[in-house]
Amino acid sequence: MAATELAALLEQLKAVVGPGGYREGTDIDAKNYQDAMGARSIPPLLLLRPTDTQQVSAILKACHSAGQPIAPQGGMTGLVSAAAPLQGEISLSFERMKQVVEVDRFTSTMTVEAGAELQTIQEQADANDLLFPLDLGARGSCTIGGNLSTNAGGNRVIRYGMMRDLVIGIEAVLADGTIIDGLHKLRKNNTGYDLKQLFIGSEGTLGIITRAVLKLSPKPSSQVVAMCAVSNFEKVTELLMHAQAKLGSNLSAFEVIWQNTYQLIDKHVPHATVPLADNYAFYVLIESMGSNSDKDTDLFVDTLNSATEKQLVETAVIADTDTKIKNLWTVRDAAAEIYPGVGYMHTYDVSLNVGDMGYFGEEVEKRLRVEWPDAIIGLFGHIGDGNVHIIIHVGPDTRDYHLQIDEIVYGLIQELSGAVSAEHGIGLMKKQFLPYSKSEAEIALMKALKQTMDPQGILNPGRIF
Ligand code: ZN
Repeated sequence: MAATELAALLEQLKAVVGPGGYREGTDIDAKNYQDAMGARSIPPLLLLRPTDTQQVSAILKACHSAGQPIAPQGGMTGLVSAAAPLQGEISLSFERMKQVVEVDRFTSTMTVEAGAELQTIQEQADANDLLFPLDLGARGSCTIGGNLSTNAGGNRVIRYGMMRDLVIGIEAVLADGTIIDGLHKLRKNNTGYDLKQLFIGSEGTLGIITRAVLKLSPKPSSQVVAMCAVSNFEKVTELLMHAQAKLGSNLSAFEVIWQNTYQLIDKHVPHATVPLADNYAFYVLIESMGSNSDKDTDLFVDTLNSATEKQLVETAVIADTDTKIKNLWTVRDAAAEIYPGVGYMHTYDVSLNVGDMGYFGEEVEKRLRVEWPDAIIGLFGHIGDGNVHIIIHVGPDTRDYHLQIDEIVYGLIQELSGAVSAEHGIGLMKKQFLPYSKSEAEIALMKALKQTMDPQGILNPGRIF
């Protein structure tokens, strides 16, 4: 685009959003161009802050005509470097579109704008005696638009599913400005293609989500949590099946911390007090949520007792008060807070069959230690969903070895037919490894969809592929 054309486009966009609706130059906060990964720091040409869907539509229509690339953004808490703008991009922030439009108790739904923060949504549901079950560490700053466009997961997927499972209707804007109004509350709707799924998990490359109707659940009235020590991964798998069979739909989390991570938490995260000795191979956090306090606690204790009798569990602590429960979750959450103590750590998010996971943990460590005998490695994750996170530090120059470490981790994932991303997405960081988990034909179909929906390639270009 010639300089005069670009200047005209920028003026046109500013007119769409009005004087309070944009920022430029040094007025743009770093939070609007640096994501949680800090992978790059390029201020956008212009930061647009629309207040409604019509403005988003007008913005995209203008950018489509001019062939101007645009990067939508939520809370900038992503972990795959997708939302931070690239050179020459315009950013579109939802910071002025964060309303909870409606809570409908009869249909158990909540209608929200894309910029609504996850924690606000959780609190609004709670105030109405309902539950919005999506939960992740960034809850205080991530937005529902970001959760939707990355198909976020988190701690309670085992019971409630991922973001994809928690949404009924979506309103989105296509690259050319066309508004797709799918904002309905119908739980059953088989009228052809489920178009909302095109926008969920596609990381802003096929359209921009502006509003959504979320699915709420009844609020549980009981919560019990235990941390169990387990001696090998086969027993972790047995314990998962045991908990699923005994607790049924009350099972709301099954999180596993490998010994390496447990010891790192103990050493580097002072506000987390580990409840058990640090010499066990695995630590499993099991949570039950239900609607009958007394019965649910009894069932949970019975489940743990029978697991101990079957020699699946070495020892365990049970938490049944809010404070004790919070303390156990603090230990689990601390797995994401080790790096300030250790130094920069590469973070991985991969998916595997649960049966392969014990081998994966041993093998990935073995292969990494061939190159870096003193590497600091930690594994933990949402094992009930087959999702493991790995954190790796190979020395002060860890960043320089990024691709070499990627090759070891993702190579093993490919051998085991796993996924190079379980819940974080692809963004820019993983795009060269997409073929490790998707076939040529699948990638060709993805590209064909992109070409149809965004022929000018203006929406988050270069992300995913
Ligand atoms: Zn996670």
